[in-house]
Amino acid sequence: MQFTGPGRPLELAARSPASPGPGQVLLRVAACGVCRTDLHVVDGELPWPGHPVVPGHEIVGRVVETGPGVEQFRSGERIGVPWLGWTCGRCDYCATGRENLCDQAKFTGYHFDGGYADYALADSRYCFALPVEYSDAEAAPLLCAGLIGYRALVMAGEARRLGIYGFGAGAHIVAQVARFQGRQLFAFARPGDIEARKFALALGASWAGDSTAMPPEPLDAAILFAPVGALVPAALRAVAKGGTVVCAGIHMSDIPSFPYEILWGERRIVSVANLTRRDGTEFLKLAPRVPVRTKVETFALEQANEALARLREGRISGAAVLLMG
Ligand SMILES: [Zn+2]
Ligand SMILES: [Zn+2]
Repeated sequence: MQFTGPGRPLELAARSPASPGPGQVLLRVAACGVCRTDLHVVDGELPWPGHPVVPGHEIVGRVVETGPGVEQFRSGERIGVPWLGWTCGRCDYCATGRENLCDQAKFTGYHFDGGYADYALADSRYCFALPVEYSDAEAAPLLCAGLIGYRALVMAGEARRLGIYGFGAGAHIVAQVARFQGRQLFAFARPGDIEARKFALALGASWAGDSTAMPPEPLDAAILFAPVGALVPAALRAVAKGGTVVCAGIHMSDIPSFPYEILWGERRIVSVANLTRRDGTEFLKLAPRVPVRTKVETFALEQANEALARLREGRISGAAVLLMG
């Protein structure tokens, strides 16, 4: 299913799988998560990559062929491909453990063809072995919702009282890790979204309310998964002095101006950009220990447009995953 330009639905196309080049693996895709970033690409909120591309960066697949020089994976092995598809390895960011910020970075399902397909090519150095505890569909959301959520949680520091705005794929995974770490959880959903609030409470939140409401006590940190800039000042008002507001999405609508007073008191606003391979290794080791259980709604490959539409409308509970036949 390929993306041919902003505002156009993905179109079904037939292509032959390419042979893997040096360092690459060819995968038979088993499942691919549908992420909000895919929506930002399809809706033109991220710059047009300049060529048609197959979206999808939460790829679970089995190696069918390895290119020259691939040693860490073998034919038949199940592996995962995340958003970070390639980095230069030489710039200041790469040299200081911040490859997520590499200026030359290339991303799966954006610069490179991704997993809304039966086959995918990937640079094996950026792929991960996957924990055996998860089925193909259950493993897919770990690869972005899980990884980026985990990076956002680390950015929230030692926060004991943690707020989460937007209770979708990322939030439902982070909530489980946060509870495992003994944090108290406060969930904020779209006004009137009773289902999301119930879901959050079932995952151990001690309070769930509308995103416009104030929590019953001040928070130490808040993570924003919803791409809504107006939530930044709302979250700043909800955190105590010294608190952190973590913006976890790749795109957000403009943030309205707000009085300095709500930032004062050493409150901080930070963003999370992409992931490092280290985030992946750490999180995929942690997930089965929690254990994180992912709630997925599956769609056939040909239903990719429907899955995206449902995500856009906020009508997915947990994570949407394409399951290949
Ligand atoms: Zn670099
Ligand atoms: Zn993603």
